[in-house]
Amino acid sequence: MIDPVLNPMKVATAIVIAIVASYDARSLAALVGVSSRRAKLAWFIGCGIATALGMAEVRLVTLLGQLIVLGAIAFVLLERRSRRAARDTALTNAHYREIAEAMPQIVWTARGDGRLDYLNRRFAEYTGLLTVEKTVAHWGEVVHPDDLANTLASWGTAVQTSEPLVIEYRLRRASDGEYRWHLSRAEPLRDANGLVIKWFGTCTDIHEQKHAENFLRAQQVTLEHAIVEREAEAERATALYQLLAENATDMVSTHRTDGTFDYATPSWIEYLGTEPANQAPAMASHPDDVPLLMTNYKAAFKSFEPITTIWRCRRADGSYGWLETRTRAVRHPGTNRVVTFVCATRDITKMKLDELALRESEAKYRQLVEQAADAILLVEVDGRCAAANTRAGQLAGVAPADLVGRAVASFMVAAEAEGEGSSDAPIVSAEYLFLRNDGSRVPVEVSAAALSDGRVQIIARDISGRKELERLKDEFVSVVSHELRTPLTSIRGSLGLLASGQLASTPEKGQRMLSVAVANTDRLIRLINDILDVERIDSGAATMEPAWCDGLEIANSVIEAMRPMADRSGVLLAVRGGGVRLWIDTDRITQTLTNLVGNAIKFSPSGSTVEIVLTPGLDGAQFEVRDQGRGIPAEKLETIFERFQQVDASDSRAKGGTGLGLAICRGIVREHGGRIWAENNPGGGSVFRFTLPRALHTDRSDNAASPAPESGGKKNGRVLVIEDDIELSQVIAMALEARGFEVDVAHSGAAAVERQRLSRADMLIVDLNLPDTKGLDLVERLRGGLGASGTRTIIYTASDLESADRERIRGMGAELATKSRVSTEALVERVIRAIETVSFHPLQVA
Ligand code: ADP
Repeated sequence: MIDPVLNPMKVATAIVIAIVASYDARSLAALVGVSSRRAKLAWFIGCGIATALGMAEVRLVTLLGQLIVLGAIAFVLLERRSRRAARDTALTNAHYREIAEAMPQIVWTARGDGRLDYLNRRFAEYTGLLTVEKTVAHWGEVVHPDDLANTLASWGTAVQTSEPLVIEYRLRRASDGEYRWHLSRAEPLRDANGLVIKWFGTCTDIHEQKHAENFLRAQQVTLEHAIVEREAEAERATALYQLLAENATDMVSTHRTDGTFDYATPSWIEYLGTEPANQAPAMASHPDDVPLLMTNYKAAFKSFEPITTIWRCRRADGSYGWLETRTRAVRHPGTNRVVTFVCATRDITKMKLDELALRESEAKYRQLVEQAADAILLVEVDGRCAAANTRAGQLAGVAPADLVGRAVASFMVAAEAEGEGSSDAPIVSAEYLFLRNDGSRVPVEVSAAALSDGRVQIIARDISGRKELERLKDEFVSVVSHELRTPLTSIRGSLGLLASGQLASTPEKGQRMLSVAVANTDRLIRLINDILDVERIDSGAATMEPAWCDGLEIANSVIEAMRPMADRSGVLLAVRGGGVRLWIDTDRITQTLTNLVGNAIKFSPSGSTVEIVLTPGLDGAQFEVRDQGRGIPAEKLETIFERFQQVDASDSRAKGGTGLGLAICRGIVREHGGRIWAENNPGGGSVFRFTLPRALHTDRSDNAASPAPESGGKKNGRVLVIEDDIELSQVIAMALEARGFEVDVAHSGAAAVERQRLSRADMLIVDLNLPDTKGLDLVERLRGGLGASGTRTIIYTASDLESADRERIRGMGAELATKSRVSTEALVERVIRAIETVSFHPLQVA
């Protein structure tokens, strides 16, 4: 508690104590001459006594004193620290200034407001401005005019914003007046409130560095420029290549090392019909070409040259085209490692097809040349044979290869020059002879053509056939003239004698002369008939008129006809063998057999037998005429079938032949599709054999086969039955054949036309409902188009006809018979009547 009234004594005491206490320990100690610890101790003791005295005033004063003492202590402490700091700062400043002065760099300081207050010695040396004042005044003279404004502005901004300053400018060096680049930095020093109280700045000479930098920058600019140029160039080149690649008709592609497409031109994509990303060409390849692609792909790895592959690749539409691809491996420059493949591909399909076509046509041409009926030779400029075909070899009698390299003149000479040595005259078109190794000669007609390379192509045609014909013709003329003149002379002579009346007195002689004339006339007629026959048959003008007949019947009829002749010669006749139905020209085969039997009788001795043997076969029959006569020399077995060829020149005169009989026989047999030849019987005599196929016209169906006409029955005419019902057609055919008609059957319009073409019928029986044509159209065609108009026709139909059709039938002069109303017997009767009726009255409708 504080007393309300202050005791002046106590206050004074307290003040003394407070004053004492307000000294600092050291001062107090110094004042009282004791150590400060002791002073403090004394003070505490004093305070303690005062407290002990219990004086309230003292306590108050003590408290105050304590406060004052504490304040004093604090003041003393702060005072002492500030003094120490000022001393330290002074020391530090001096120290730093020394450093600053010693620095080779320019160092400066300025106050917080930016006023320059210090520059080091280096600055003065460098610029020649010795003081701060001069520097401020002449700053514009030491800074490069171009940098001045920037330095002032930047410094102004730094001071304003209190931000550090970094700036480059050129300072003039006083020693030589050179402006050199400096880097100036200024850092602000701030107080506790952040206010700038000082600026510390430096200026470093960076002239060399700047130069180096500029140089480098210039270099860099040049480099960059060069790079840009190069890049532009590369881009130009890329664009150009791309343009070229994309517009090229060829397909260009690059491939990764695994073969897959990396890039493909639009032409490639168009070809494949799809983007070939991640695909290898082998995937679109023809399976047969995959191994080749793989082999060449491996080769491209090793090769420094492009590899060419010709392969087939699938197109968008699935078809394959031929491609030619040139592949080049692109390598890493340092290592030779393959980095990519570049391919140029060309579609060579057309070329390939042309090539194939050419090869094919060459092969065909070669085949043609090889198969040519003429000899073809290629002759070198020096006259040697360069090539010869098969026929040339055949003509020369050697293998074609043996002719190659030989002088052509050694095996082919001009016909007229033979024996005069080889002819050097150029061949144009002339007759030559091929000299065969066996010494024989083959006449040829030669045509030659010079080729552009100087070689000559020779075509030699074998004309031995023509020569032989010419020989035969000459012979024929001489024989015919002889054969004609001889009987004519006899006739003329005998008739001349009769006409002269010299024989009037001797009628027997006159009669003999008449017989001579008649016999020679017969001989002339025979000869002329034979000549005409052989000509007509050999030229194909004689048409065979086939019909079904029995081979054995023909043989028997020939024997019967020849019996008088055989009897005269004392020769026996016989027939052996089985019956066989044949579709042949009966008259012509009879003529053939008659000729053979006649010859056999002529050249057989009396008492011997001439026999016809008929051997039926699967496809036809073989006829043999055997005799026991003189036989035929082996070398004549073939030639006697030629015209006027006889074993002995006297035969014709002695035996009364023309020498044409066998030639006619051969012609007839050939026309029937058969073969004729002669052999000698081992037991003596000769055998003439000929074969005949079953049917002269093989397209005649078996269904058309009809029963044989009544044996020995008279053939009343040929009837063509056009009826698609097979059974009905057989019934009609049988009924007609039973009445002596020759019947032919057709089951369709087309077959009917063919039948009528082969053999014209006297009568047509036509069903109107045929599978391929309308009956009435067919009738018009058969009667109109094939030269058979007027052929009697009976329309035999099951249909009830419209009046228009009846009119049409009437118009064409045909007769109408309705099936079921008119029986087959009645039909046959009508046929007989129609054929027998001279003036045919059409349309008797039943
Ligand atoms: P020709 O009318 O002269 O008989 P051919 O052509 O029929 O003519 O016969 C030719 C020749 O064949 C006859 O002249 C004869 O020399 C010979 N010849 C034909 N048949 C016989 C035969 N059966 N025996 C012997 N020679 C025959």
